[in-house]
Amino acid sequence: MSFEVHAQGAVHVFDCFSCAIHRMAPICEHCRVQIIGQGVEAEGHWYCGAHCARAEGRAGIVDRV
Ligand SMILES: [Zn+2]
Repeated sequence: MSFEVHAQGAVHVFDCFSCAIHRMAPICEHCRVQIIGQGVEAEGHWYCGAHCARAEGRAGIVDRV
């Protein structure tokens, strides 16, 4: 049961969801956790949540709910 993920003009083929998650998930630039589900992007940087964005000095970030 393989499937394709289309991202940024490229097609990635995975045979399991966890493989795709580990390949595709961005990394929080503060706590280094893989962002699975909702993250926040601030000025081209990715964080797992607003608390990490603020910890890195990104102002005005609120969690998307
Ligand atoms: Zn984080």
